[in-house]
Amino acid sequence: MKKGPSKHSTQPDDPIRELQAKADRFDRFTRNVPAMLYDYVIDQQGASHCLYCSAYSLELLGVPPGDFVRDMRKFWDMIHPDDLLAFRKADQTSNKQSEVFSMDVRVVLASGEEKWIRISSKRNPPVGDAPAIWSGYMIDISETKKLEKMLQEQASHDFLTGLVNRHYFHEYFHSELMRKERYQSHSVLLMLDLDHFKTINDEFGHDAGDYVLKTVSKLIQAQMRAVDVLARWGGEEFCILLPETTQAAAGAVAERIRASLEQYLFEYQRVPIKVTTSIGLTALTARDKRIEEVVQRADQALYQAKRDGRNRVTSR
Ligand code: GH3
Ligand code: MG
Ligand code: MG
Repeated sequence: MKKGPSKHSTQPDDPIRELQAKADRFDRFTRNVPAMLYDYVIDQQGASHCLYCSAYSLELLGVPPGDFVRDMRKFWDMIHPDDLLAFRKADQTSNKQSEVFSMDVRVVLASGEEKWIRISSKRNPPVGDAPAIWSGYMIDISETKKLEKMLQEQASHDFLTGLVNRHYFHEYFHSELMRKERYQSHSVLLMLDLDHFKTINDEFGHDAGDYVLKTVSKLIQAQMRAVDVLARWGGEEFCILLPETTQAAAGAVAERIRASLEQYLFEYQRVPIKVTTSIGLTALTARDKRIEEVVQRADQALYQAKRDGRNRVTSR
């Protein structure tokens, strides 16, 4: 006996119903998938438009699909000015040499809202002289980008003070060593360690210690130029890289930092706290090839300052 079609399938011998089922499925897909699905062509004159664009374009970009079917210029106009050059380059490269196009780009909607969009498309095999059709999708990746930025920030910054951390400083310092080698420029490293900080924690509590660390970060920054980089090295230790600075000029900066901490009226819950710092200073020399050597020299200078009675700047 011939088996009848199941409830969900179409009769193989009914092409019209089969076609209708396919059309329904396509319609269901393009309405429900949270992506702008499209077929895109660039004609011989270089003008681009969509042969097809799904209705999600309205939710994603605030543009009805028909607008993109007429002309793709509206999309180009939405691209963030800072991403436009890279986008144009990637578009040209993929049109000439590639089968796939994939890029994350920022767009600015007519409402002013900014979104991160992921665009991914693939070129269909050419048919005769007809212009190539690129089938692709665009999705909203704003949340992913936000998270990515937050994680990057966390990986490179210290939570308490907001300063860059040791890991970031290492990378920056490395590029500075390279630059120095190329341009024979002068740079100076300062290492700071707060004096008897453990006593502050012990006498006034850990929160008071945290307040001191945050305030110290601000006081140091007040003495720095925009090009200088201050990092929390760890615990109650900080380091500063001063590019394009002579040893004498760096000595003056270090002395200003030392004095500003000594003179500042630290007060936690109305209780005054005395804070001083010792500072080790060392200039980068032509022989310096490794960060560790420079840090070690600054550390030796710092511990000399501690041995000599603290609250002072020592050079090495
Ligand atoms: P010295 O003058 O020789 O540098 O003495 P010191 O007490 O400053 O040095 P020590 O290394 O003995 O103590 C550093 C203290 O810093 C110990 C540690 O508990 C404290 N510390 C490290 N990180 C934090 C922090 O994030 N918050 C607070 N409140 N304290 C911290
Ligand atoms: Mg210490
Ligand atoms: Mg200390």
